[in-house]
Amino acid sequence: MILQELQSLEACRAQADAAWQLMERLYPICRSITGEGVRKTLDAVGELIPLQRTEVPSGTPVFDWEVPKEWNVREAWVEDPNGRRVVDLQNHSLHLMSYSTPIRATLPLAELRPHLHSLPQNPTWIPYRTSYYKEDWGFCLAHDELQKLQDGNYRVCIDSTLQPGHLTYAECVVPGSSEQEFLIFTHVCHPSLCNDNLTGIALTTLLARHLLQSKPRFTYRFVFAPGTIGSIVWLARNEAHVDRVRHGLVLGLLGDRGPITYKRSRRGQADIDRIAAYALKSGGHASRLIDFSPYGYDERQLCSPGFNLPVGRLTRTPNNEYPQYHSSADDFSIVDRDCLAESLRTCANIVSIADRNDRYINLSPKCEPRLGKRGLYRLTGGAHPGEFEHALLWVLNQSDGSASLLDVAERSGLSFAAVAAAADALQNVALLRPAEPAQSWSTA
Ligand code: ZN
Repeated sequence: MILQELQSLEACRAQADAAWQLMERLYPICRSITGEGVRKTLDAVGELIPLQRTEVPSGTPVFDWEVPKEWNVREAWVEDPNGRRVVDLQNHSLHLMSYSTPIRATLPLAELRPHLHSLPQNPTWIPYRTSYYKEDWGFCLAHDELQKLQDGNYRVCIDSTLQPGHLTYAECVVPGSSEQEFLIFTHVCHPSLCNDNLTGIALTTLLARHLLQSKPRFTYRFVFAPGTIGSIVWLARNEAHVDRVRHGLVLGLLGDRGPITYKRSRRGQADIDRIAAYALKSGGHASRLIDFSPYGYDERQLCSPGFNLPVGRLTRTPNNEYPQYHSSADDFSIVDRDCLAESLRTCANIVSIADRNDRYINLSPKCEPRLGKRGLYRLTGGAHPGEFEHALLWVLNQSDGSASLLDVAERSGLSFAAVAAAADALQNVALLRPAEPAQSWSTA
């Protein structure tokens, strides 16, 4: 099985440190759905894994949408009547509403006030606000700071551009022995927010880096794209190839202290849904399964009825279900290294099972074949068989071409690793052959 090096929590902790470093580097960048922030983010990821970058021109039609104008910003601030900068993008990338149009003006507080966003319930946090599809401008600040503003004239500067450019996304493809694909999607459009979206970017990068060192069966395609419009663009450009997608996962929000949560695909009973459920149940940590809903991240597009791809979503606490969500309090303090490590191990576990979940044919199906003479079964009778011997018997019994190794593991209560090891051993002594010929694997 692949990714065995990520099956221990100890090994994943070292990887969590690497994820943390990448997140620290990405945190200050002012990202949005287009622009230099996304490119700088992909530059940093591209130092760790090979990326193929795609730039799609503004105005390109993509299903019912079109690629938006590209947004970039150099500076943005508000000065109070005494010339003091009371809000400054330099101090936190959340201070500016994403996609704010340019402005230079002096305004009385009453006119400025509708453009200032805060969170009265959590008066020290800066909210995260966007205005991608309606041209507008705004600043976000702590409610406590907003309350302190005195009447008078305020100077406002947003030195931004919103003009024809490109939407940028990138892919890392890890070739497998098959052209069938395992698709992994993560969004790269949030500014200084830690759990929601830096943990997803970092763990996706590390998972890709490990798969590049392995020899997987599936071809793995990692897509780093802005949320929603990025997956719409990707689907529009790859519509002819999506029948290659055998499994998929949307990854994000993987570092908080909540239980690991798998959201089923729209199909509900796709192989990925069963594999993820098994990985969570056998993972030895708190977890939960939730059903598909057309709300969340890029599963909304990937599981839209015209595609209905077998793609689930792995998070810890889902979007909008923790108080710090989409605010400056989604920072490093709510991310835990052990939780990151556990999330990575879960991803690796799902991938390794999916990559090995074959069906087999027993080549000696009439009564049990003699395993002792093939060196697979201890010759001394009487002792209760161990896990491996049990696994041999289960795999032989169930291998009529209909049961996958996951079916065998679930029905027997044995670990997937033991069942897979038994299948390897039985193949080595020619008692088993794959139910699907190797050729069917290599043609989509
Ligand atoms: Zn978000």
